[in-house]
Amino acid sequence: MTIDIEKVRKQLEARKAELTASIENAAESAAPVELDQQVQGRLSRMDAIQGQAMAQATIERRRIEIAQINAAFKRMEQNGFGYCVECGDEIAPKRLELNPAIARCVECAD
Ligand SMILES: [Zn+2]
Repeated sequence: MTIDIEKVRKQLEARKAELTASIENAAESAAPVELDQQVQGRLSRMDAIQGQAMAQATIERRRIEIAQINAAFKRMEQNGFGYCVECGDEIAPKRLELNPAIARCVECAD
């Protein structure tokens, strides 16, 4: 089975746009929590702080995924897409199907 790089590229572009939009949404929740005791009780303030931390973790994960996608685009330009960045072996098509941005074969993944 050969990989349809153009199809994968479109998939990754769509995923990247999705992630970018999601970062923008999460950035709102990650905004500093206003410590207004009169408006918010102690519990809801803790909720807000917890929500903020979760939103920041979400943004961080999205940023990592975007970086992986950008790296995959670069490998496409250099005709290295579909090959493991560690050992140079072909990455199993099933593995690429699951995550087209993946950079390592099963053996090098750990
Ligand atoms: Zn490998």
